[in-house]
Amino acid sequence: MIDAEDVGGVHIKYLYHCRRQLWLYVRGIRPEHLSATVQLGEAVHDASYTRNTPVDLEAARLDFIDGAHWVHEIKSSSRPSPADQAQGRHYCHRLRRVGIEAQGAVLHYPKTRRTQRFPYTPQAEAQAEADIAEVLAVATSPASPDRLARSACRGCSFTDYCWTE
Ligand code: SF4
Repeated sequence: MIDAEDVGGVHIKYLYHCRRQLWLYVRGIRPEHLSATVQLGEAVHDASYTRNTPVDLEAARLDFIDGAHWVHEIKSSSRPSPADQAQGRHYCHRLRRVGIEAQGAVLHYPKTRRTQRFPYTPQAEAQAEADIAEVLAVATSPASPDRLARSACRGCSFTDYCWTE
């Protein structure tokens, strides 16, 4: 099972999107490679920011960090979501853990040409730590969390698992 140091951006994204998805993911059930949505996301990402170098924090991999220590993340969706913000916050948290004074996250949405900037405040730090604790709570739960409403599952790569009787 994972511990706090293993918690990465994908865990945080799933925590915010669907706890059941997170629970399955930590058990090695990962059908994402079959998901057209994920492939489209990767294509948008690759086509949008080929000049920047990803940063590998072992459990987490962020798109790039600028000279003023802002984390930049490229998103394939059209609209900002709480999961995007949480991921950016998590990367700042991890950077600070390795001694880099991350200032916050800048989220880029190439499809709609929007950019959002979230400073890494003390409140953001507390929330980042709470998110990690919550990921671990879901991960160690003996039973899978409830499904979301059917309409919220559209495009999810775990649909077969959750909805095939
Ligand atoms: S199909 Fe729905 S309930 Fe199942 S993991 Fe995906 S989003 Fe969650």
